[in-house]
Amino acid sequence: MGEDKCSKCGADIPTDSKFCLNCGAKVVKETQQVKEPMHQVFRFVFSKNLIIAAILFGLLFIWLGIIISTFSTDLTGFRAAQTINSLGFFVTGVFLIGGGIANDGMEKYIRLGMIVIGVYMITMVLSLSPLVSSFGSLYT
Ligand SMILES: [Zn+2]
Repeated sequence: MGEDKCSKCGADIPTDSKFCLNCGAKVVKETQQVKEPMHQVFRFVFSKNLIIAAILFGLLFIWLGIIISTFSTDLTGFRAAQTINSLGFFVTGVFLIGGGIANDGMEKYIRLGMIVIGVYMITMVLSLSPLVSSFGSLYT
């Protein structure tokens, strides 16, 4: 906040003006030039379209897992369904978190919600896996 300094004459310039009022030099905004490449890669990986695609992909896997577990009669089918299901939850969770962090143009509470749901989904996958395998061993 406050005032910037002119790079040519050093005079104070109001934050939103494009030219120096003292010497007329063009004001170069530093914030637009300096951007860490890591942050840009991160933003590219978790761009809005990719997040939507990944979440749909994850939901498809969750749905597939439910379908397979409904029709599977043996443990192999049940485990396969569980693996697909967990993978779907994991992918969706990761991209919800990444998307919530990377898309700083979005509404603050939506981003926070995305991160919370993402963490919840991954926690669920991690806590469910040993439970499910012990549950599955009852049938063997
Ligand atoms: Zn100036």
